[in-house]
Amino acid sequence: MTKSSLAVQLSKLKGFNDAKVSLEQYLTDPEIAAEILWFAHMQGDIDGKRVADLGAGTGLLGIGALLLGAKMVFLVEKDDAALDVARDNLGRVKFSGEVVSLNQDIMYFREDVDVVLMNPPFGTKDRYADREFLEKAAKIAPIIYSFHKLETKDFIQDFAKDRGFTPTHFWAFKFPLKASMKQHKKKVKFIEVGCWRFVKDKRKIYK
Ligand code: SAH
Repeated sequence: MTKSSLAVQLSKLKGFNDAKVSLEQYLTDPEIAAEILWFAHMQGDIDGKRVADLGAGTGLLGIGALLLGAKMVFLVEKDDAALDVARDNLGRVKFSGEVVSLNQDIMYFREDVDVVLMNPPFGTKDRYADREFLEKAAKIAPIIYSFHKLETKDFIQDFAKDRGFTPTHFWAFKFPLKASMKQHKKKVKFIEVGCWRFVKDKRKIYK
């Protein structure tokens, strides 16, 4: 496996059939997903690990982790139509890890994992969606990879710091939003997105 072969495999997965605006269903660009997943892999955050993909959508990030040798992956997604696509996608790739797909709100997910990978809603439709995801991730994992709108950078970093997490790496991307939703008039629109790797600060004890 190389970074580019990972991107190729991810690009072959199916996306949302009918993306729901209210749930902010956007597929992560496969090249961007491969960039972060490959980095995480090189960092030793994937191979043999228990990974949770929160707001898994059609499964891109979690499936990428399985392809890179994760021991176990939880796909947590509250939209059953999206999770159906994720299950279909799982049948199209080869991996040896275990996968658990859960059709539920991330609020009810309580497994401890080694790493959370997530591209959650950016909080454009539901103002608090992004912080709910980060809050949950901070409770269940010591390492978090998370995508957020770049304009919320200071807020996201402070929010993570308050929960005892330090940003160790940061990437800025222009996210291509394909015109998958009816109200998008232009073919491709770009939004500025940041991705962070956060690590739990061992020196402090948080409840
Ligand atoms: N992670 C996927 C999808 C990103 S879109 C990818 O990278 O391609 C965000 C996803 O979060 C959507 O599929 C949406 O249905 C899901 N979602 C939004 N709020 C949720 C919640 N509270 N619990 C579980 N899933 C949620």
